[in-house]
Order: sequence, then C-alpha cells, then structure tokens
Amino acid sequence: MSKAYDIALENLTGAGARATVKPAPLPLRGISDAPADAKSFYIETFGCQMNDHDTEKVEGLLLARGYQAVATPAQASLVLYNTCSIREKAAQKVFSRIGDWKTLADGKIVGVLGCVAQQEGEDIFERAPWVSLVCGSASYTKLPDLLDQVEAGNKRVTGLSLDIDETFETELTRRDNRYRAYITIIEGCDYSCSYCVVPKTRGPERSRRSDSVLDEARRLADSGFTEIQLLGQTVNSYRDPSPRGMDFVGLLRAIADVPGVRRVRFTTSHPNDFHQGIIDAIDEVPALCDHIHLPVQSGSTRILKAMRRTYTRDEYLEKIAAIRAARRPISLTSDMIVGFPGETEDDFQDTLTLLAASQYDGVYSFKYSPRPNTPALSMDDAIPEEEKSRRLAALMDHQRQIQIARNDALIGQSFEVHVDGHNPQKKIWGGRTSCNRLLNFTSPLDTLLGTYVSVRVTRAGANSLFGEHAV
Ligand code: SAM
Ligand code: SF4
Repeated sequence: MSKAYDIALENLTGAGARATVKPAPLPLRGISDAPADAKSFYIETFGCQMNDHDTEKVEGLLLARGYQAVATPAQASLVLYNTCSIREKAAQKVFSRIGDWKTLADGKIVGVLGCVAQQEGEDIFERAPWVSLVCGSASYTKLPDLLDQVEAGNKRVTGLSLDIDETFETELTRRDNRYRAYITIIEGCDYSCSYCVVPKTRGPERSRRSDSVLDEARRLADSGFTEIQLLGQTVNSYRDPSPRGMDFVGLLRAIADVPGVRRVRFTTSHPNDFHQGIIDAIDEVPALCDHIHLPVQSGSTRILKAMRRTYTRDEYLEKIAAIRAARRPISLTSDMIVGFPGETEDDFQDTLTLLAASQYDGVYSFKYSPRPNTPALSMDDAIPEEEKSRRLAALMDHQRQIQIARNDALIGQSFEVHVDGHNPQKKIWGGRTSCNRLLNFTSPLDTLLGTYVSVRVTRAGANSLFGEHAV
C-alpha cells in the first residue's frame, strides 16, 4: 500500500489538488560514492509507514556494521527490497524489481525483506536464484546473524520464523524524515480480518517495553525532534510487557511529557480497542495531536461480519459520536475497502451513508484484492473488477465533496503549522497542522523550516489548505 499510513491528506481520496510545496530534501546522511571494495547498500521500500520505519532501523544496523549508503542500486554491493504484500499489485511490483537483477546481480548480494519475503519464503530462491537473503519482519532481530552468513558467501539465507516474541530494536536508527520521528511501539497483529495478510506476514502482536519506548523518545527529543509518531498495525492495542504495565493512554501521556516533545501522533487505531480514555487524553494534553485514523473498512454490518472486523456499523458510529463530542475538534480519517466478496449494491450504499455520517477528513479507499492464505480468498460472489472500479470512483467522489465542504469551513481560522517544506521559487512554505492537514502558506520570513508558526487559512481545496503566516 503506497504510504497508506502517512495520513497525508493530499494523497487521500479525491486527489486532484496537488501540494505546491515539496518537503525539504533531507541531506543524504551516510550516503556516499563508496569505493569499489567498500561494503555498500541500497534499500527500496514498498508499503506503509511501518515498512518505512523498519527500513530506517535496517539502515541503522547496516551503517553500524560499516556499510555505506549509496544513491543507486547499481552502486551497491547489497541491494535490499523491503516489501509489502497487502494487495496483489504491491507484491507484483516487488517481483518485477527483483527480476531486474537476473543478469546483473553478478557479485551483488540481493535480499528480500518484509511481507513478500514472509509470504513467499524459500520459493523466492526458486523463482529468482540470484536472491541470497529472504527475511520476514518478525525475524529482523536476527538480521545481524543472517548478514554474517550472507557476507560469508552463503547463497540461501532465511529468517522466516514467526515464533518470535521480541520486538525489533536497534542501537542506531537512521532517520529519513528530519521533522517527524517514528517509534514502533507494537508489532504484528492478533486480529484475523478475513481479507488481510498481516497476521501471517508480521506475526502475532508484540508490544515493546515502555521504558525502551520512552528512552527512544527522550533520545529523539535530545537530538532535536519535536514531533513523534507512534506506530503499530493496531497501535491502541498496546500493552506494556514490563512490570510497569502501562496501557496505551499511559504511554501517550508519558511521551507527551518528555521535555522537548511538542507533538505526538499515533497510527493505526483499531476501532475495537478505541475508547473514551484516548479522547480524554487528547482533550487534556495539547501535545497529543487532534487527529485519529480509525479505519472502518465497510459501512455494512453484514460485510463487517464477513470481514471479521469485530464491530458493527452502529458500534463504530458510537465511537465516531464520542470523538465528535470531544472538546477539541478532532480530525478523523479512515480506510475503506470496496468490492469485498458478496458486497451488494445495498451494502455499498451503507458504505456511502457511513461516509456522510462520519464526515471524515480523508479516506484511503481500496478495491478488495484477494490475497493468498486468507479466509476471504475462498468466499463466493466475487465482485467483477469493473464493478469494484465503479464503486471506488463513486466512493472517492462522495468523499471529495465532504472534504471540500469540511476544508471550506476552515477558511478564516488560524492553525499552528510545523513547517517541513519550502518552495523558494514560488516563495511558499508548507507543513502540517496538529490535525495533520497540509497547509501551504506565504510568509515575510525566510528561515522557517522545523519551526512552528501560526497560519491563517485563506483558501481551501479538497486535499490541502492555503494561508498566510500571521507574523
Ligand atoms: N490494522 C489496520 C486496521 O485494522 O485498520 C490496517 C492495516 S492494513 C495493513 C492497511 C489497510 O489496507 C487496511 O485498513 C485495508 O483497508 C487495506 N487492506 C488490507 N488488506 C486488503 C486487501 N486484501 N484488499 C484491499 N485492501 C486491503
Ligand atoms: Fe490486518 Fe485486521 Fe490486523 Fe488490521 S487488524 S492488520 S486489517 S488483520
């Protein structure tokens, strides 16, 4: 899924309006023209923010082992693909990339990490004998050993066990985003949604010790990060495995208390584990961002049951009503799947009416993609591809109208923006509000990157806002 968890409103349903400001390029820390005999690496990442952050950790591990990062795969002695298999297209893309090395891999180590590695396992060696490392994310704790083997010339090295109760922690994590630092607090998933590969590719749920999470947050704050985003497939199912026994809300509050931390975000929340305590914490603690990503998947209780989502439409809408009743206006985004097997026109209409009732600020919408080893694969009444496309387009159109109306209502209001982008030619700055809206703006000042400024909204599109820095 392409960055499905960066709740980047410009990428959400109804896309059309483009962000005018690109994020400031990050200096390529550690990237060099490595000498021919040096150990060097290149990693391409597919999928969600969890994958992006796993890559940052793998990069840290490689840099600590003396590898140098290089800018192209051709320059690298080690080429890794950190993969996603959530939908078929994402998995196909990975095989096409690996295929590129069929005749060119000579002397290079090519490795496949992540969900496709876990899903396809040793079959990858049969399909692509030039690949020598296959490692699923649950086995990243073993990567140093696996790299020892690969470096020793072993041609078929695997890390595919899901029977691991540790989380992946490294001494050094390379940070590819200089304004927002990610911390994984929970890995894997114990739910069993009938369409989803994640429990099989990322393994069972494992929470990280709260002291380790808080140490990382303090180190990040000390090194200048002011915004932290907590990650997990079901981030709000967090349960501290240490004797301290912190729950998710306790952890949120503790991170918000770390000196230097100004914003705390978290994604993705599962509706089943979402409760009033999270809303109360957002109401009480200004550092907790006023944005919740709460994927619903379908508006039809019948389809939710077939999806094994563990809640009904009405139960979900009760949670939305509680969020809307908060003292701080909280922005709300969601994921939706159309064309699940057996989804009738009535079920689809339920999804559209749920959009209207929820008034989301953004939706990631997907056509159902049948995945290997999932219960939905053998369900009857597959929806034809053209019908899935029709429903997706209708959903996106509805949601776009909602976003236009919601963003229009913000004209005239002022928001604090964490500035993370600049277009010097157009003299436009850009950044995120606490509620994660993209707000581009003009300013008389010329050194704003990384700062927090107050911006008054003067124009609105479906996917971003435009305004003026109120100096
Ligand atoms: N754990 C999160 C939750 O429960 O909402 C979602 C994580 S999942 C990795 C990301 C999103 O991909 C899901 O919310 C769902 O909308 C979408 N997705 C997962 N499997 C899919 C499939 N087989 N076809 C289409 N979309 C899928
Ligand atoms: Fe997949 Fe469901 Fe787990 Fe989310 S909660 S990762 S959709 S199985």
